[in-house]
Amino acid sequence: MRSIVPDYLTDVLGDVESDASGETAGYIPELAAADPERLGAVFATVDGEVYGVGDIDAEFTIQSISKPFAYAMALADRGFDSVLAKVGVEPSGEAFNEISLESDTGRPRNPMINAGAITTHSLVGPVGLTPAERVERVVQGLSAFAGRQLRVDETICASEMASAHRNLAIAHMLRSHGILAEDPRAVVDGYIRQCSVLVTTRDLAMMAATLANRGVNPLSNEQVVDQTVVRQVLSVMATCGMYDAAGDWATQVGIPAKSGVAGGLIGALPGQLGIATFSPRLDVHGNSVRGVSLFERFSSDMGLHVMEVPPTARAVVRSNRVRTGADGATRLFRFQGAIRFAGAERIVREILETAPSEPRVVLDVSLVHSIDDVARRMLLEAARRLAQDGHEVIFVDPEAMIPADLGEKLW
Ligand code: GLN
Repeated sequence: MRSIVPDYLTDVLGDVESDASGETAGYIPELAAADPERLGAVFATVDGEVYGVGDIDAEFTIQSISKPFAYAMALADRGFDSVLAKVGVEPSGEAFNEISLESDTGRPRNPMINAGAITTHSLVGPVGLTPAERVERVVQGLSAFAGRQLRVDETICASEMASAHRNLAIAHMLRSHGILAEDPRAVVDGYIRQCSVLVTTRDLAMMAATLANRGVNPLSNEQVVDQTVVRQVLSVMATCGMYDAAGDWATQVGIPAKSGVAGGLIGALPGQLGIATFSPRLDVHGNSVRGVSLFERFSSDMGLHVMEVPPTARAVVRSNRVRTGADGATRLFRFQGAIRFAGAERIVREILETAPSEPRVVLDVSLVHSIDDVARRMLLEAARRLAQDGHEVIFVDPEAMIPADLGEKLW
């Protein structure tokens, strides 16, 4: 049998191929000269399978797609409080290069617009790094997300730096508000180097898959940043990643995403996959025209919108009965499936409504295939309360789904 996903990708790429609307980024001379016909798309699953069609190994500069990853590095290196003190998390509703600072604090509104990204760049690495050391940390961090060594394209970097008046203006504003503590020119130079890192569509899909996989690169298995950082980054991508098109994107596509002016676009679907597309012509927001069309198709064809409400999970209570043996009566509850808060609540309610009178209560979780932390603690608490009421409580837990940490607090 032929694999299904590549055939699907080929079909969808064929459908958008003829759309020649939009323009390559005009304000960076080297990008304006890029081949506008390039087109590629890659799906990378969280277990490391890569499906790609089109120009998936052609290199181009990462541009603003570096922003969420640099934000992840800053959060990991400096901690949430120091980063949040300098960069907010509110959608600005404005263009990516707008000088969008909060009127009272001077903080950039979020790390996805340039003002926030320039500040974020300055927060990567420990305090006291030189600009060159910081760029090195950024390039190594981006490489860890991609799972291969990446490098800066010096020609594109020089081309952007030569016409970086707007970013320099933003950086000087940030410096005057005390948000930047260093020489604005050096920070912009570092930020533009960060934007000039060369990637392929395949790399971008792996980087997105690392976010989708709780910060673990699916191929190298390296934990690049921890889960709390990933949650913060995905939240900001979902609300601010597409600039002043963020609301349209959230409703129509519904995948945390980030675009770059070289034509790249990534989406990270938590727990499922990373997606990347490449097509250099941009719309008025600076987002790839055919990239946006591809994501719209992917989302609707494959039901990938994160707000899609899944069919109500199968009943978590599989059975509830009494077994009578030589040693007396036992109440036997058997649970199944994936249990999160709502499932655990259902289980607790079942136990309460049953109000077991039998001396022994068995909680059988052998058919439970996943349980999150709150559900695990709720089941332990239910067991503790049953024991308090005088029952002998026995877990049937062959896969150690509910490692008991006695004395653990539920809240
Ligand atoms: N380097 C670009 C800039 O700062 C990145 C912008 C983008 O990709 N949206 O203008």
